[in-house]
Amino acid sequence: MIRVEQALNSILEHISLLSHEEVKLLESLNRVAAEDIYTDMDVPYLNNSAMDGYALCSCDTTGATKASPKTFKIIETIKAGSLPSKKVDQNQAAKIMTGAPVPEGADSVIKVEDTEEEGKDRVKIFTQAKDELNIRKSGEDFKKGELVLSSGTLISPAYIGVLASIGQASLKVFKRPKVAILATGDEVIDVEDTFAKGKLRSSNTYSLYSQIIEVGASPVNLGIVPDDPQRLKEKINEGSGCDIILTSGGVSMGEYDFVKVVLEELGTDIKFCKVAMRPGKPIVFGLLDGKLVFGLPGNPVSSMIGFEIFVKPAISKMLGRPNCKKQEVDAVLEEDVEKKKGLKYFMRAQTRWENGIYLTHPAGPQGSGILKSMAIANSLMILPYDQEFLSKGTKVKIRFL
Ligand code: AMP
Ligand code: MG
Repeated sequence: MIRVEQALNSILEHISLLSHEEVKLLESLNRVAAEDIYTDMDVPYLNNSAMDGYALCSCDTTGATKASPKTFKIIETIKAGSLPSKKVDQNQAAKIMTGAPVPEGADSVIKVEDTEEEGKDRVKIFTQAKDELNIRKSGEDFKKGELVLSSGTLISPAYIGVLASIGQASLKVFKRPKVAILATGDEVIDVEDTFAKGKLRSSNTYSLYSQIIEVGASPVNLGIVPDDPQRLKEKINEGSGCDIILTSGGVSMGEYDFVKVVLEELGTDIKFCKVAMRPGKPIVFGLLDGKLVFGLPGNPVSSMIGFEIFVKPAISKMLGRPNCKKQEVDAVLEEDVEKKKGLKYFMRAQTRWENGIYLTHPAGPQGSGILKSMAIANSLMILPYDQEFLSKGTKVKIRFL
């Protein structure tokens, strides 16, 4: 039996980045950039107005107030999307709309609220402008030649906007790993199958499928196979086009737990088959023709935790996410908890922020078949190997789910 940290290292050391593919801008959301992207233009391109108002030279506004306004001749109106056709001279102003380019000779914009038109082509200005008032400078967002996004960046909605603003209609991202899921067990039926005594619905297929999507990979459902070594072999072979194969069930000590044996017969180089943790102690990991194979335990919570602790970091690394280690934070126990010595616990927990600290308590019963407490948990409490009893008030590590 190996420790969690050792198990995770032995997984991560076998992972290389996937190749990349070119995708349309919107398809890059939540994916990882596989290229550095520079802008070949200033954004914004031209100095433009941040307000609807009048563009003029601030030097002509000295002393202007509501009681003693300065009057300017309006030489033209500049809409957003059009270009100025005249230079602004002394005591002249151009009527300007938000986003329209600032004409030559003007260094500031007086907003419309601080003005009043007089006749057809004159405007009174009630306030003194300082240089660059209400002007958005060209290149103030991005300068021509600037690095906009570096390889390894997770593409968020804001990055999508940034990329649109520089005209990047497509880009290279790391490919999503394909992850096969195979449920095993004579008792296991699918969600749409007719229920019968002695059977059990494959919640694992669906929770794993969702976890795979959530982490940014592509799930491939291979269905359910009974506890029959030959059928198991055939099904595992069906996953050969995938980057990762996940099985659930059949990895414990039972007479019908064939997954490990079958994987070995298929030529899998098994790296470990038991980890000092709870839930999820029986878990097989190995390499089959360069693919990662995880034999996850059948119990619904164990399979989800196995995914969270081992499969998720593996996928994150494949995707090129720079920081795939989940952050752990300190929290204070709100009740006593007992555990078995020698195992690292990942207890389903409810954690909340109160008076400047996180307080945490178990989210109900912790049996590895009790999915309800996984559903209501917002975090995992991480309890160290060597302790048997942690009293209320003890500081523990938690990670949010
Ligand atoms: P096993 O490791 O195959 O003995 O499975 C352990 C427990 O998990 C048993 O109670 C199984 O019925 C249950 N189990 C196995 N596969 C699934 C599945 N796909 N969905 C939900 N529970 C399962
Ligand atoms: Mg089974």
